Amino acid sequence: MAYKKISVKKLLQWFLKNKRDLPWRKTKNPYHIWISEVMLQQTQVATVVPYYYRFLEKFPTIKALAEAQTDELMKCWEGLGYYARARNLQHAAQTVMREHGGNLPKTHEALQSLKGFGAYTSASVASLAFGEDCAAIDGNVLRVFARLYAIADDIRLPATKSKIEQLATLNLPKGRAGEFNEAVMELGATVCTPKNPQCSACPLNQDCAAFQQDAVLSYPFKSAKPKIPHKEIAIGIVQREGKVLIALRPPDGLLGNLWEFPGGKKELNETLVECCKREVEEETGLQVQVGERIAVVKHTYTHFKITLHAFLCTYQSGEAHPKSSQDVRWVALHELNQFAFPKANKSVITALLRRSESSVGTLFEPMV
Ligand code: SF4
Repeated sequence: MAYKKISVKKLLQWFLKNKRDLPWRKTKNPYHIWISEVMLQQTQVATVVPYYYRFLEKFPTIKALAEAQTDELMKCWEGLGYYARARNLQHAAQTVMREHGGNLPKTHEALQSLKGFGAYTSASVASLAFGEDCAAIDGNVLRVFARLYAIADDIRLPATKSKIEQLATLNLPKGRAGEFNEAVMELGATVCTPKNPQCSACPLNQDCAAFQQDAVLSYPFKSAKPKIPHKEIAIGIVQREGKVLIALRPPDGLLGNLWEFPGGKKELNETLVECCKREVEEETGLQVQVGERIAVVKHTYTHFKITLHAFLCTYQSGEAHPKSSQDVRWVALHELNQFAFPKANKSVITALLRRSESSVGTLFEPMV
């Protein structure tokens, strides 16, 4: 089937007039563009802006990022989530220093050899920073094109994505791919939104098949997501001589290189208290008495959800050592904010600090 081109001229004019004033739009520095693109994956623009400034202040060059201390890097990323992004950034920066003379490669194909550069990030950086004519396809672009061309196929399927990439490529204006990619993404983020698209204000409404069919919300078609599993996690806040015990997660895998309170997943036929005691011992070698539960935190990761139960624990015996982590440390409560923790643990710390400041006693009902 032959597809007609959309009015790219109208789109680019609209973009010029309506684009949001964002810091990474004022630079052609490939490193800055790269950092912004990685931060914007899975994260809202408003959240990213302060992180973007802080990160570039702390690590102003690829060399600085390559040489950063892991702890400093993770602390700078703390709260943004998807921590593999930070580890991949540093890995890629080290490769760039070692194999590319400190400069990012200039094509999307070459960029894809670096860790963390998938199809989208490579095309985005190559088009924005180096002017390569290639289409960058993210969730916004998929939605906009599915509507423009009334694509009824399941948007989760690779074949649908590749069809949309072909349509975006068909419309790519030579020499202005970066601007075009940004314009489509901006349209998706501000006008062609998932729930309430503002079609009357859209520069492409005359080209849009879904709008012409009066069926905008039927596109894109998405098959139901498989249900994600749920895990019950018990963690122990082990106290000894005015300090609490924290452990450093292994460098790779989920939440790698972040600090946490020792704990883990509840097994079948085990209570949360038993789980807490067992996990603390398996992770650190300490025997503890499990006491009051001071916080319950729910959190959703990409592939599973957790309910995390935090228990105060009293030290009984043993010497703490890293059995399944990289390191363990006893720290005072006021020192906790010097370490990078995952979001669910941060909520526990907040509860812990509030509790320690409260003269009345606990803010949380004892639940055990
Ligand atoms: S007309 Fe509506 S559905 Fe079509 S691209 Fe514009 S905002 Fe999206």
